[in-house]
Order: sequence, then structure tokens, then C-alpha cells
Amino acid sequence: MSSSAPRSCVIGYPAKHSRSPKIHGYWLDRHGIEGHYGIEEISPEGFADFVSKLSEHGYVGANVTMPHKEAALRLSTPDQRAKSVGVSNTLWFDKAGTLNSTNTDVEGFIGALDANAPGWDKKSTSAVVLGAGGAAKAVVYGLLERGLKEIHVVNRTIEKAQAFREAFGSAVHPVAWSDLPALMKGATLLANSTSLGMYGQPALEIDISKMADGAVVSDIVYVPLKTDLLASAEARGFATSNGLDMLLHQAVRGFELWFGTRPKVTQELFDMVAADIVGG
Ligand code: NAP
Repeated sequence: MSSSAPRSCVIGYPAKHSRSPKIHGYWLDRHGIEGHYGIEEISPEGFADFVSKLSEHGYVGANVTMPHKEAALRLSTPDQRAKSVGVSNTLWFDKAGTLNSTNTDVEGFIGALDANAPGWDKKSTSAVVLGAGGAAKAVVYGLLERGLKEIHVVNRTIEKAQAFREAFGSAVHPVAWSDLPALMKGATLLANSTSLGMYGQPALEIDISKMADGAVVSDIVYVPLKTDLLASAEARGFATSNGLDMLLHQAVRGFELWFGTRPKVTQELFDMVAADIVGG
């Protein structure tokens, strides 16, 4: 590889478990791009210094994962998505040398819905979002960006759902778990952004049988690939969008920013990363 080949990486602590090198490595290979995507395990104490020398380390940008996403926002020039969600996960230098950042979980969630349920936003003006954690912020912001008028945020800790209304405005309606059954009647779009249903976590107990015909159900949990929620949505003939689709779609923008080509999320890529997840 020539010394001028673009290089990017994922910065985390820990970072070795990241699947991003597999995803970007696959696209570099498929597009015949001479570039590299590596892993940088950097402690919280060393993160600011590492980012200030990102270019000297030879990088055109980077992904940022736990626990550095808030710091990445502070140490860069964030776009509106990153500012609204409160964290950045993708850094890149523009032509003037400014270090910019964005939050690609927003387009990951929306991109997966577009791919799996084309036209979903024409059929739904409202959504039910389960969860009010970090991932839920990206989900709610993405839905608002796409013009949904009413978003019911259902969370165990109701104060966190109320904080979403303060942050995102009056289209957000905080809802207690006990009121979820009433909300499901006739619902057209449901997104699980809690960790419920993930391996090692409690089950997500929800009855989706009263949702509208042709409803769309998304689950951002990706271990397992097919959660119980998605299995029961499929059994009812609803369109579904899974967490691995979101993970892959969120990677598209970073690759485009660093390597100059917009890559596609293909079945082959999905199967390759899915095999890695199933295999642990
Ligand atoms: P987080 O900030 O810790 O939020 C966790 C959410 O789950 C909160 O709303 C929390 O409710 C709720 N929750 C957890 N345990 C619960 C329980 N026993 N009963 C009821 N609610 C419970 O985590 P996060 O970063 O948002 O991640 C959430 C999930 O999304 C994880 O499974 C993560 O792997 C997944 N994720 C996927 C992608 C992707 O690309 N597919 C991206 C990001 C995250 P409280 O507020 O009441 O605690």
C-alpha cells in the first residue's frame, strides 16, 4: 500500500471487539480501493491528545465508539445531527483541515427502514419508540428529521422520556410502560431501542397483535439477529428492520467521507457480519 493511501480507524476503549474493520475492509476490497481501516485502543485520558494528532497519525478520519462519543463531539465541529443527539461517532477532515463530526446512527436507523420498508414514512405520521437511552436519541431524531408528526417515547424511567420532549419538542410524547398496550392499537410504526430482548437481557414483553395492517417493526438490538419482537412481527406479515441492518447502514457515510465512494449494504456483507455475530 502506498503511503498516500487513505487510512481510517475505530477509536475505542476497549475497541478490539469492533466489527467496523470487517465492514470497511469488505468495502475497500470490493471497490478495489487502496486504503486501510484499523483499530486504535485509546484510554479516556489519551483521547483528546490522540484526536488532536489524528492527521499526524496518518488518518483522514475515524469512527469513535465507547467511551469517547461525547468527547468526540466536544473536540470537533459537529453537524446538526451530532449536536441534537449529543454524541459524535464519525470524524473526518474537510479540505480546509477542519475536523468535523456527525452521528451516523441516525442515518443507520433511517437507512435500514428505507431498505426494508420502502415508503414507510408515507404510511406513518406517528411512531412508538421504546427506550430513552443513547440509541433512542438517534432514532427519535431520525424520525423527526423525516417529518413524523407524533412520536410516543415509552420508557421505564419516565423522566428520561420527558427529557426527550424538552430536547426534541412537542412532537415527542412521553409514555409510561403501563400505557403501552393502549398505544399499540392501530400503531403503524414501532421501534425498539431499549436493550430488552438482547442476549443476556430481560425479554421484551409486548403484544403487537393490535397494530395496524401493514405495520412496520424495527428492532435495533442485533444480538440475536432475529429478536422475538421481529419474529412475531414477521409472523404477522409486518415489514421488519433489524439491528444489523442499522449497524451496516450507519457505516456507509463514514466510508464515503474517508474513501470517496458511497458503498452499498449487500446481502453478502450482511451474511458475512451475521456469521461473525452468530459465531460470537
Ligand atoms: P442505554 O443508553 O443504556 O439505554 C438503554 C435503554 O433500555 C433505556 O431506555 C433503558 O430504560 C432501557 N432498559 C434497559 N433495561 C431495561 C429493563 N429491564 N426494563 C425496561 N427498560 C430497560 O443503551 P443504548 O446505547 O441506548 O442501547 C440500547 C440498545 O441498542 C442496545 O441493545 C444496543 O446494543 C443497541 N444499539 C444498536 C445499534 C445498532 O446499530 N443496531 C446502535 C446503538 C445501540 P431506563 O432509561 O429506564 O434505564
